[in-house]
Amino acid sequence: MTPSLFEIVEEARLSARALIDYGESFFNPTIRLGVTGLSRSGKTVFITALVHGLVRGGRFPVFEALASGRIAHAHLSPQPDDGVPRFAYESHLRALVEERRWPNSTVDISELRLVIDYQRPNGADRTLTLDIVDYPGEWLLDLPLLGKSYEQWARESLSLSREGPRADLASAWHAQLATLSAEGPADEQATLEAARLFTDYLRACRDERFAMSLLPPGRFLMPGSLAGSPALTFAPLDVPAERTAPDGSLWAMMVRRYEAYKDIVVRPFFRDHFARLDRQIVLVDALAAFNAGPAALHDLEAALSGILDCFRVGRSTILSSLFRPRIDRILFAATKADHLHHLSHDRLEAVLRRAVNQAATRAMSTGAAIDVVALAAVRATREALVARGRDKLPSLLGTPAAGESAGGEIFDGNTEVATFPGDLPLDADALFNGADAFHGLSSTSAEQTDFRFLRFRPPPLEAPADGAPSLPHIRLDRALQFLIGDRLQ
Ligand code: GDP
Repeated sequence: MTPSLFEIVEEARLSARALIDYGESFFNPTIRLGVTGLSRSGKTVFITALVHGLVRGGRFPVFEALASGRIAHAHLSPQPDDGVPRFAYESHLRALVEERRWPNSTVDISELRLVIDYQRPNGADRTLTLDIVDYPGEWLLDLPLLGKSYEQWARESLSLSREGPRADLASAWHAQLATLSAEGPADEQATLEAARLFTDYLRACRDERFAMSLLPPGRFLMPGSLAGSPALTFAPLDVPAERTAPDGSLWAMMVRRYEAYKDIVVRPFFRDHFARLDRQIVLVDALAAFNAGPAALHDLEAALSGILDCFRVGRSTILSSLFRPRIDRILFAATKADHLHHLSHDRLEAVLRRAVNQAATRAMSTGAAIDVVALAAVRATREALVARGRDKLPSLLGTPAAGESAGGEIFDGNTEVATFPGDLPLDADALFNGADAFHGLSSTSAEQTDFRFLRFRPPPLEAPADGAPSLPHIRLDRALQFLIGDRLQ
């Protein structure tokens, strides 16, 4: 296919940017690390804990450069991109450590630059600059739209909305859709209503009871300054195959707005941010999907394969791939592992690995090294053996945040409770086919109480006798070792 003038200009801009980045990185070794994941997957907490650990010297035994004392100093420095909001590290840290509450979540892209002075194993002093780019996973899942026409997208979205638990959630939207004629005249009011009902359906799918992952277009759920604009006011129509939209029709109006969404939202994100990343961590709230059941897990798998496809096209232009290699490491991380007993951490990793492998066989090769980890950027629970009857059962102790409720009880934010962590099955397949459903956290007092979605308060800093006070975590150091360890050699 011959590229359009628009695509040629885009390619030139992308390549120019790659050249500038290459020049900067040549004199000043830099890693641009993308941190993404769907809303509430744990991006803000992850970045805050990671930066805190690097700047203040956290307990990271598996992160070799820090554990062996080769990192002399890590400090924040002004970020390179003037048009991108700065990641609000200081206020997030204040919330986490001083107020012991979870910081406000990611709703937009943000950036933070960390400069790491270290010693190579041969003793030479070096500096590595780490640019952390935090962006919503919803934006990433929009990238496949670039290769799809309105008609393809509408057909796929409609058929997905007729499957499993989605069908019920889509009923109000489907009812309105049945009254619309795609080839009838364009109608602003009907379009507004269709977009509203379609967005309600997407929002309902995202609810923690269903925990669906694949919900493009991403900005419908996080519109920011584009709320109410025509580029966000469209919806799938039941369009006839092998016909084109008649001029002035409702269908033609939807097509124009869908294309506007790609031009205004998706392409700039791809060009200005995504195509410039070197490494990527994708955070996944797998426990939320387990809690919601097999349909959510299959949806998650489809989202992961969409994500892997995005990385394949990440650096597709000739010039840009000459100057910088495409993303060469991708880490998929199951977050909030502190909701499980440590015996289940490897099982959590196995489930995510299975989902990623399935996704990888469906997606084309990304050419990147891929790894999987189960982690808790901030560990909010402790493990203990709690007596029940004559037995002593492994439990998790944590302080539910003020206002959290379970089993009719409303917590005050100061009372610690003991919960039984749900056991993950030995065989990951059981979770996917629903044979052995996951039950999440339950209460130690009344077995029926559903503690699955309980939010624990962040813990106080740990102050070991031999080191700086640090935030407790699970396997955050392993993630760091994979993401940047090789560049500190
Ligand atoms: P974002 O939307 O991806 O930025 O998600 P956040 O980082 O704001 O995390 C969303 C919520 O997940 C937080 O408010 C916490 O309740 C919870 N959370 C995130 N990370 C952890 C973790 O490491 N441990 C625990 N227990 N909860 C976490």
